[in-house]
Amino acid sequence: MQVKCVLCDVVENIEDFSLQAKRLRNKKTYMYLCDNCNERIKERTLERLATNKFRLYEEKKKEDELI
Ligand SMILES: [Zn+2]
Repeated sequence: MQVKCVLCDVVENIEDFSLQAKRLRNKKTYMYLCDNCNERIKERTLERLATNKFRLYEEKKKEDELI
């Protein structure tokens, strides 16, 4: 199936029966992020970790939804 990254609008193909595709179909809140954006978000999370200005629980929850 074709998926569009919510951040940069790049369209990618993922396996129809992959776990990711299943989640996209089942969860309305699930948003697809391409590899580039995933990397960027990871970096930002690490930056926030360094500044101690983030809430651990919320970040963990978001990360789980993205996988
Ligand atoms: Zn992207």
